[in-house]
Amino acid sequence: MRSLDIGKVVAAVRDVVGQEGVVALHEPQFSGNEKSYLTDCIESTFVSTVGVYVSKFEMMLQQVTGSKHAIACVNGTAALQVALQIAGVRSSDEVIMPALTFVATANSASFIGAVPHFVDSERKTLGIGSKALSERLAAIGERANGSVRNRETGARIAAIIPMHTFGHPVDVEGIESVAADWRIPVVEDATEALGSLYHNRHVGTFGLLSALSFNGNKIITTGGGGAILTDDDELAARAKHLTTTAKAPHRWAFIHDEVGYNFRLPNINAALGCAQLEQLDRFIEQKRRLAERYRRAFETVAGVAVFVEQAGARSNYWLNTLIVEDPERRDELLAALNNDGLMARPVWTLMHRLPMYHDCPRGPLDVAEDLERRIVNLPSSAKFA
Ligand SMILES: *Cc1c(COP(=O)(O)O)cnc(C)c1O
Repeated sequence: MRSLDIGKVVAAVRDVVGQEGVVALHEPQFSGNEKSYLTDCIESTFVSTVGVYVSKFEMMLQQVTGSKHAIACVNGTAALQVALQIAGVRSSDEVIMPALTFVATANSASFIGAVPHFVDSERKTLGIGSKALSERLAAIGERANGSVRNRETGARIAAIIPMHTFGHPVDVEGIESVAADWRIPVVEDATEALGSLYHNRHVGTFGLLSALSFNGNKIITTGGGGAILTDDDELAARAKHLTTTAKAPHRWAFIHDEVGYNFRLPNINAALGCAQLEQLDRFIEQKRRLAERYRRAFETVAGVAVFVEQAGARSNYWLNTLIVEDPERRDELLAALNNDGLMARPVWTLMHRLPMYHDCPRGPLDVAEDLERRIVNLPSSAKFA
């Protein structure tokens, strides 16, 4: 094994981005109808909870993803929280998820009083692995009158959240089959994966429900925003109701029939989202071209490997990823890239290392712990393509 030449990595990244000075990890691109829709929205005075752009944005999301319903929300975390709640997750239930994820995945379960339960990831997708999932369920799962319990904690296991890491689809088939076997609903965290396909079907359409995010650093942005996807008419109606203060429709009366959230996406954010979605195909083309340029640039660089999509998957390549062979040199590499102005980043600290999730139930996490020490994300703005 030839050893890592850090200068070579810095030069390769600099060459791919083709830009001097400070380079951000991920910048949005506003080169379409953004200003025109925002102006129209402001002139209409409907910038807030009512307006035409919200339903237009939801319809565009349905078209892009092939989901029967899309319910726009204030952010991806809120979308995931409500999706879990509608999937039947209740206080003190356990929710299976990867430890290798952004904190919002675990928080979304905590907000409803549920407990995250961490299962290992796999190297080929960076997502939760079906083998780790089935082994963990075999080790602690117990079927008890129509539900599954964790034999060790006594809690009900109420949902599984696969997360499509950096836009790379998880092994959907494998996970679906384990979930179906145990009859546990799947709620996809597709917040990083708008535009990613698994066997030509958009991710986020496999689970009972799923969540998207349109935060400033995601592939399209509404400033802040998110959406719930589902094919189920009844669940979709519940999602809309629960995210809009659970108000019964009436011309003037304020009747709310349960404790609902104010999680709607403001019209002005949706206006931005419509303009962004119009450009999604181009963004994905650019991101995939950029990923291909990184792949080629690193073909001859020893000591690091560019992470590439699996056969049958089409990733949006939201964040480009290097896997460092020698984890002892990861920080040295991060320092060199950042000293050069290239904003490279490590992956998130694994959830079970954070103080609030330290004592959560978990299976073996060897792969996630190994990946945590090796991943470096590279500048990935679409404009570099
Ligand atoms: C971005 C993200 C979220 C949450 O989205 P927000 O819109 O920022 O609330 C959830 N999970 C993962 C893995 C994310 O990357």
